[in-house]
Amino acid sequence: MKYDEIARNVKAVLAEIPDDVRIVAAAKSRTPDEILAAIDAGIKIVGENYIQDSVEAFNRIGNKIKWHFIGHLQKNKIKKAVEIFDVIETVDSFDLAEQIDMKCAAAGRSMEVFIEINSGKEPQKSGVLPENSMEFIKSVSALEHIKIRGLMTMGPFSEEPEDARPYFAETKKIFDSIRSASIPGVEMKYLSMGMTNSYRVAVEEGANMIRIGTRIFGKREIKVRNLPLEP
Ligand SMILES: *Cc1c(COP(=O)(O)O)cnc(C)c1O
Repeated sequence: MKYDEIARNVKAVLAEIPDDVRIVAAAKSRTPDEILAAIDAGIKIVGENYIQDSVEAFNRIGNKIKWHFIGHLQKNKIKKAVEIFDVIETVDSFDLAEQIDMKCAAAGRSMEVFIEINSGKEPQKSGVLPENSMEFIKSVSALEHIKIRGLMTMGPFSEEPEDARPYFAETKKIFDSIRSASIPGVEMKYLSMGMTNSYRVAVEEGANMIRIGTRIFGKREIKVRNLPLEP
């Protein structure tokens, strides 16, 4: 997509959403120049699904924005992820959290993470089931180099934005109950939900972080690597 169109799209979304809602520009498969056009127009957080793409983009763009990992993190990519990302939004197993913790210890840093909630309880999807979220967060909170800072959810895919509303509402309820539980070391600051076709509904249901790809960068070209997000 043309760089000036990307800039116009970013400004349009920024103008539309409340000031306290942050945008994560979901950059999968976009070039570093396309990402830079979005940054010049006001984007402060870039989300990446693939470590390979993010290495290239990070080498070019560096730390002038925050990098969020929003894909499925493979075990053999954790070390690289710890080098690049400010936030990993998709922590959904103790094993993954523990491995991030270990790599962070070795690198002398800590990692801010969001817990991914499988709000639609879809068997093929990643994420912690709503009913397990409190216990899960309590156990992960014990890891020294992991800082839980919020929740993320995708919700079941639908063309119809209203279909997402109950899943966003459910995730907001979990967010509030975990916040009320005041678990040591856990801060429920960010609720990351809503994409191009559902961000308006997500904001109405309490999202303060939305992840937008298509609305900023245009339709994705079909590349094999960008077909289904989760196997
Ligand atoms: C691609 C992606 C988005 C953005 O999707 P769009 O519909 O293009 O806005 C948001 N979140 C995740 C996890 C994604 O993979």
